[in-house]
Amino acid sequence: MQLEQKLNEIMISKNLDIRSCTETQLMHGLLQLVKEYEDSLSPTEGHKKLYYLSAEFLIGKLLSTNMINLGIYDEMEKILSANGRSLAQIEQFEPEPSLGNGGLGRLAACFLDSIASLNLPGDGIGINYHYGLFRQRFDNFKQVETPDPWLDYENNWLKSSGRSFNVEFGSFSLDAIMYDLLIPGYKNGICNKLHLFDIKEPAAPPDNGISFDKTDIRHQLTSFLYPDDSDDTGKLLRVYQQYFLVSAAAQLILAELDERGYKPEELSRHVVIHINDTHPSMIIPEMIRLLIKSGLPMHQAIQEVQLSCAYTNHTILAEALEKWPSEYLVQVAPQIVPIIEELNRQTKQKYDDPEVQIIDKTGRIHMANMDIHYGFSVNGVAALHTKILQDSELNSFYKIYPNKFNNKTNGITFRRWLMNCNKPLSNLITQQIGDGWHNDAEQLEELLDISNDNDFLSKLIDVKSQNKLRLSHWLKSSYNIEVDNNAIFDIQIKRLHQYKRQQMNALYAIWKYKQIKSGMLPARPIVMIFGAKAAPAYTLAKDTIHLLLCLQNLINNDESAAQWLKLVMIENYNVTAAEKLIPACDISEQISLASKEASGTGNMKFMANGAITLGTMDGANVEIAELAGQENIYIFGRSSSEVISLYEHNNYRSCDYWQDDEILDIIDFIISPEMLRVGDPSSLTRLYKDFLTKDYFMALLDLKDYIRVKEKCLNDYEDRNLWSHKMLANIARSGFFSSDRTIREYERDIWKLRARD
Ligand SMILES: *Cc1c(COP(=O)(O)O)cnc(C)c1O
Repeated sequence: MQLEQKLNEIMISKNLDIRSCTETQLMHGLLQLVKEYEDSLSPTEGHKKLYYLSAEFLIGKLLSTNMINLGIYDEMEKILSANGRSLAQIEQFEPEPSLGNGGLGRLAACFLDSIASLNLPGDGIGINYHYGLFRQRFDNFKQVETPDPWLDYENNWLKSSGRSFNVEFGSFSLDAIMYDLLIPGYKNGICNKLHLFDIKEPAAPPDNGISFDKTDIRHQLTSFLYPDDSDDTGKLLRVYQQYFLVSAAAQLILAELDERGYKPEELSRHVVIHINDTHPSMIIPEMIRLLIKSGLPMHQAIQEVQLSCAYTNHTILAEALEKWPSEYLVQVAPQIVPIIEELNRQTKQKYDDPEVQIIDKTGRIHMANMDIHYGFSVNGVAALHTKILQDSELNSFYKIYPNKFNNKTNGITFRRWLMNCNKPLSNLITQQIGDGWHNDAEQLEELLDISNDNDFLSKLIDVKSQNKLRLSHWLKSSYNIEVDNNAIFDIQIKRLHQYKRQQMNALYAIWKYKQIKSGMLPARPIVMIFGAKAAPAYTLAKDTIHLLLCLQNLINNDESAAQWLKLVMIENYNVTAAEKLIPACDISEQISLASKEASGTGNMKFMANGAITLGTMDGANVEIAELAGQENIYIFGRSSSEVISLYEHNNYRSCDYWQDDEILDIIDFIISPEMLRVGDPSSLTRLYKDFLTKDYFMALLDLKDYIRVKEKCLNDYEDRNLWSHKMLANIARSGFFSSDRTIREYERDIWKLRARD
């Protein structure tokens, strides 16, 4: 057995024994083995190469997914078990790289897996944040942020590439050191790369939470990932990070173009640059600048860049569309300012509409506007989202460039989100339909042939119970919370944002608690699980976390209620936690205010794992409803067009809901004596007042309908046979949401990497 021999050699070289070393030592040994294995793979070849630029790649742990892709997972599991070791156990000691905020970064990671698995020549380019996104702790029922030093300098997935590029800022320059992380395709013998740029002398982690000297760019540039869109203080640092990323990327792309034997003027024939949201948008002026420097005339440089760059829009929330003051760029990267001004002059000459200008009257640079004018493709991330972009949000652009717009509904890699995280379900499926679904998820539809096979349906329920048991052990050991495995597991895990409406779910918990206290008992216990990080400066989001933690304390310690309702807010929600939670879920909470969630990908992970969606007609929920069928999803709330019209006419008044006694009763509970005994009065009162006077994301608008439909969902759960049919329909129809399908569409409509092969 070659694999076993190889592992033995590695362990012996470290003076360790497989049977007796610690889990961490064994994990390091396996990591080294996988890295060596990956070195023997070939890079993808092709005349045209994709560079996927993203400020975030939320890759998750890599040991087991890499082994799955290399096709050595099962064998390795056997070898370890023959030596008295458990792979699942060892994996717990692998740190999770903290290189993304949430959905956007996770999407980029799923895309890299699919690009390699489809044998497409495409590398990712990002930043090696040392302390990543903050780590979340709860203290006194509040979120506390600490650095997440995920990077083990001795043992990690990064390889040094031997390459570096000098990045010039306004008053100094820095070397961008390039590290590579290998991305193996699924059992196809090929390997792509994720290039992560770093500075030479990164600072040590701060000792006071996550505050550090944001002006010390030389040492802090790659310290932290910008925690979402609500923290103002680090804006200039963020611009430094972005320019660092794109300048190094542009230099790498041109160097590789040259190495492949092509000239700069052939850029667009041989390169596609994908701009994942507006964070890497400065690649446009930077690449134009470098092409001019290499001798191209301005108009040709602009044309080559325009034909190379494609942009994905991820949100319609106005506050998330980046607009940088020109002064920032003058300070950070003065050399690209004249180019942006020239691009602005050219568009201004063609179009009067102030909506489509790159630089506005106040001198702010609209990054998305630059991407749309000077890229060849603009895509939204779900059918509804793309339609909203075309019809309202970016309508002025759609009128100019109808052909640039296209939809690419997001996806997830089933290798991680089903095969790896839910082995009991994967094995059950494979026994039934074979393993073709591993790289062709739409084969899951074959399960529909047995939708009346009661034996299979009861096995589906058994598998879910098994996963719930596993989760309940984890909740007991990590949080000392005991949950009844026979309970319904209702889960909402995602970033904390008002538009995602965790606050509405909290209001449901209050309503249910009061019901139980008044003697209206549910058919069986309910466990409500939350996981969410709030951006450090986002006050109302933090208040919502506080509300949830206070409710958790109050409800779980009220014995008469706690046997029927438990609330658990898990700490530091990340990919690792998601992989534990999703397989055990019965009800997937996807309750954003319609029109606000561009796509969502959590919803897809839950669907594939046999959870039933309780959601609004928003983002990809719309497509989930179409695929699974109306009878296999629980939809509530106002439609996106109703919501858009409410905003347009300024027609939503949360005070209108004061007349409703039931709603008022729920809201009042937030500042009731029992809550104030547990929580911080100023935080709870702020949230209470927001509900009554503002409620910008309209939780009260949909609250009653939410309660009604959630109750129906809980009741339907009692018909176990009916519910198992719903589970099966969801799993069987989830294949559309494979990121392999998404990437095939990017390739077919946008990148065309294989068009001339
Ligand atoms: C999938 C995922 C997300 C995205 O979740 P949404 O519900 O789509 O917002 C965020 N964070 C992590 C860790 C994920 O795995």
